[in-house]
Amino acid sequence: MPTLTYRHFRDVPESAWRWPSFSPAEIACRGTGAIKINTEAMDKLQSLRNRLGKPLIVRSAYRSPEHNRAVGGAPASMHMQGTAFDIAMSNHDPVAFEAAARAVGFLGFGFYPRSGFMHIDLGPARQ
Ligand SMILES: [Zn+2]
Repeated sequence: MPTLTYRHFRDVPESAWRWPSFSPAEIACRGTGAIKINTEAMDKLQSLRNRLGKPLIVRSAYRSPEHNRAVGGAPASMHMQGTAFDIAMSNHDPVAFEAAARAVGFLGFGFYPRSGFMHIDLGPARQ
């Protein structure tokens, strides 16, 4: 899968960013500022945003290995590949959201109602 990696999201050239509803800062690691851009995953995220017609509040996207450990992420978390996103459900119906995410090609889902977000990833499928 095509992946672009930068030590800090400020280093991402404008020409490399083609997802108008999101900024590199939203997708970057919240612990280090590093970013891994998986273009296939980002294309699906933008498709999901377009299909839903409402903002996607990104709680977590790319995570550096050290930040993933710090937040208790799974050891092989797809957040470290840039192929997973945690999206706030405050402005979405989880059922409609999951259906739309499946329709644009996301394969893995995890709903965390107490934390108020849904994890979506490019799979392999789970749960
Ligand atoms: Zn997640």
